[in-house]
Amino acid sequence: MALSHVRKVAFIGTGIMGAPIARHLMDAGYHLTVYNRTKKKAAQLIAQGATWADSAAEAAKDADVVFTMLGYPNDVEDVYLATDGLIRVTKRGAWMVDLTTSSPQLAHDIHDAAEVEDKHAVDCPVTGGQMGAEEGTLTLMVGGTKEETKPIQPLLECFSSNIFYFGNPGDGQTAKLCNQVALAGCMVGYAEALGLAQQAGLDRHQVIEFITHGMGNSVAMQQLAPKSVDGDFRPGFLSEHFRKDLGLALAQAEDLDLQLPGSETAFRLYDLLCQVGGSKLGTQAVSLLYQDEKTTKAAGLDWSLLDVDEYADDQKDADHKDHDHCCGHDHDGCGCGHDHDHDGCCCGHDHDADGHADAASQQG
Ligand code: NAP
Repeated sequence: MALSHVRKVAFIGTGIMGAPIARHLMDAGYHLTVYNRTKKKAAQLIAQGATWADSAAEAAKDADVVFTMLGYPNDVEDVYLATDGLIRVTKRGAWMVDLTTSSPQLAHDIHDAAEVEDKHAVDCPVTGGQMGAEEGTLTLMVGGTKEETKPIQPLLECFSSNIFYFGNPGDGQTAKLCNQVALAGCMVGYAEALGLAQQAGLDRHQVIEFITHGMGNSVAMQQLAPKSVDGDFRPGFLSEHFRKDLGLALAQAEDLDLQLPGSETAFRLYDLLCQVGGSKLGTQAVSLLYQDEKTTKAAGLDWSLLDVDEYADDQKDADHKDHDHCCGHDHDGCGCGHDHDHDGCCCGHDHDADGHADAASQQG
């Protein structure tokens, strides 16, 4: 199915990532019908010639190819599997491509449901961040083979530099979760390096620069660590979405009888960040957990939101039985090898009676 055979493309979910991806498809000559829960986030695309539809079903009903770039697995489930969902309303032979970072099992279920209806659904999460979406240089992880997804390849190439095929439905999502597990280490690693550098009185910009010349280097160190030092916590990638991804990775690891103690630690840090008001900040805001209260407050965190007792109970549960944040699965023991006392989160800060992280005592 070359460009000439794809007449209509629908795009659902025009947020931070979806809007620039949709724009690349338009730039390549595809006519787009768009829908987003909050209409104003599609305004620029509409101004550039996209057609607005009043619902996902309306956008998708005549489309040859439907892209979705939503937030959470629940959003994906609703949009695809509800009674007026994409599986039901799309025409026979249509392709549905989910770019959301979502659950591998859900991707598998959606693929199978589409197949029954004589339609095609494939998971195709992305990596490369907001910048990659804007530049059209994302890396894609396809839950299918190159051969079977050939019809949509020209469209995928409009917004990507690299496409990796992982063979089976859901495998694209699993590959993406592997990426997030690797990223978790990079994020916590740079946040802790900056915390140590600051406490020891080093120039943090200089520390970042030298680390990028050695084995401690990472894209996170290059692109996000300078933002942390400069106090720029605007989202490219929302902290609440990273918490979701780590929850999904931990759930899948548990299904496979595998412990991921590093990811558990990162999950807890992001969970804490989200609990104190950081969910809409960019992932670089994890570095705030190593900062004094005044700095965290200036960045928009509110430690009084943390219910210390409830948090301590959650930590105990995480250590000993249920671990039910986001991923909805039980985890036996965190395996991180740290003691988690009643006050303690993994960041190693004490929380006083007011729920403040006593980072000041460490950071000066
Ligand atoms: P985002 O800005 O929150 O975009 C998600 C969009 O989906 C929002 O505009 C949201 O509408 C819309 N949406 C959710 N449910 C919907 C529904 N039922 N019907 C219609 N629209 C719906 O998030 P994002 O940063 O673009 O990320 C999207 C996904 O990509 C997430 O799964 C994320 O984990 C993943 N991802 C993000 C990045 C990144 O760097 N940002 C990189 C790779 C992967 P509202 O405007 O009403 O909220």
